[in-house]
Amino acid sequence: MGKSLLIQSNRYEEQIQEVMRALDFTWELEKLFSICLECNVPVQDRDKQKVKDRVPRNVLNEHDTFWQCPQCTKVFWQGSHYENTQKKLIMLGLGAST
Ligand SMILES: [Zn+2]
Repeated sequence: MGKSLLIQSNRYEEQIQEVMRALDFTWELEKLFSICLECNVPVQDRDKQKVKDRVPRNVLNEHDTFWQCPQCTKVFWQGSHYENTQKKLIMLGLGAST
């Protein structure tokens, strides 16, 4: 039987904190972006050269580390979404600054 948790807050930041507290859960920042959000499968490291036709030129110039989903072939990099999420987690007291 699964457990259930009644979320009290209407603010998503507090909702996250409630769930984290209830589960005694901590983020591992390096794992946060290791799964494809579409397919829920682990993404794989990709050589810059291998993804150069799949990402915008400015992204290619600014980043050296890329990942690709083996299922949907979507390419990921540590863009503004990554940085914003990292900042937000730290702001919520949920992330460790690296
Ligand atoms: Zn995928």
